[in-house]
Amino acid sequence: DPRTPLASLSDDELAGFLAEQQEAYAALRARGLKLDLTRGKPAPAQLDLSNDLLHLPSTATDRDGVDVRNYGGLEGLAQLREIFAELLWTSPDQVICGGNSSLTMMYSTIVDFLLFGGVDSPRPWSQEEKVRFICPVPGYDRHFSMLASFGIEMVTVDMHQDGPDMPAVEALVKDDPSIKGIWIVPTYANPSGAVVSQEVAARLAAMPTAAPDFTIFWDNAYAFHHLTEVEAKSADILTLAAASGHPNRPIMFASTSKITFAGAGVAVLAASKPVIAWYLKHLSMGSIGPDKVNHLRHVEFFGDAEGVRAHMRKHREIIAPKFAAVDEALTSGLAGLGVAEWTRPTGGYFVNLDVLDGTASRVVALAKEAGIALTPAGSSFPLGHDPRDRNIRLAPTFPVLDEVRTAMAGVATCVALAAAEKITA
Ligand code: PLP
Repeated sequence: DPRTPLASLSDDELAGFLAEQQEAYAALRARGLKLDLTRGKPAPAQLDLSNDLLHLPSTATDRDGVDVRNYGGLEGLAQLREIFAELLWTSPDQVICGGNSSLTMMYSTIVDFLLFGGVDSPRPWSQEEKVRFICPVPGYDRHFSMLASFGIEMVTVDMHQDGPDMPAVEALVKDDPSIKGIWIVPTYANPSGAVVSQEVAARLAAMPTAAPDFTIFWDNAYAFHHLTEVEAKSADILTLAAASGHPNRPIMFASTSKITFAGAGVAVLAASKPVIAWYLKHLSMGSIGPDKVNHLRHVEFFGDAEGVRAHMRKHREIIAPKFAAVDEALTSGLAGLGVAEWTRPTGGYFVNLDVLDGTASRVVALAKEAGIALTPAGSSFPLGHDPRDRNIRLAPTFPVLDEVRTAMAGVATCVALAAAEKITA
């Protein structure tokens, strides 16, 4: 009976189960699939929702008479900053609209900390003996590879459904001044889908830290990316931190990469006014101004903050069925076997699949041989090392629905086969 946990099957039953899975896998391989669930990219149908951008802006002058074709306005177009201020619950003078990538803004923020130190830094981070960051896991691979490239050490804590393991975070920051930062994806986290609760956000904002310049990198990449009608609200970290006497602690990032065009959207940074001034001062050494034509294009396209929310509901219609298909395939293939757990996210771009300990790499290898590309096992951990080798990040947005169904049924087969191999080994 495939619904009995594998752990409670007899040796004979297990041998039978293994044989069944081997047969299913052989059939899967014979199909010669070529499917890809590796990266969280919008599907072409989602990009099509924003095709009007290709014909905008309709004018060269914005509401305030700014000629967007010319240099200047380092902080970004006022009207676009107003829209994001409303969406991110802050004021326009605490918002910068930049280029097409929030990851680039995160990178330059850390470079500025390293070279110059931040608003509350006693010295540049590069002059510290050691700089360490807290990395909730599983997390976003590019956050981790960025830190690794700077030689910043990573200390992991568990990411729970309401945010990072706070007792662990509080213990780390309390006495150790080398702990300078933490990554948080507060809304529909990559890859767990977790939403940081108000209570956890308040603790992050208020906790005593040995480093005076401890910084929360609040990467709200999926702030508006709801998959259901229940639209999670991000905790208002800027206000919480200011109210706790740590106004410069959080720096928030967001972008329209998964709202309009992933290669030609607009990135946003929000923080206290001193942090905004600090960021702009250093930015001004490398830029005379952002692409305001793209800013105006986005202003005309959205109209206002409600325009963004309405647009996100169209995305939801396209991708929610794909997430449902992932859950259906995993439930149908694996429920009851006791060899896998997965998330049913209410937003964001990923499903987090935890398989039997010690089998994630095997699952990814089996899937690859069957023509299904998955993100490498361990990607959601610093240095690509998942100590339990059980975590797999699934990204179902890019393929069409039918391909998601096919790929995920195949993944379920690989998970069951790898588990049966492991248990019978
Ligand atoms: N932050 C997170 C958590 C992401 O998952 C991604 C993309 O997958 C990014 C940032 C990249 O954002 P951008 O396209 O604005 O550089």
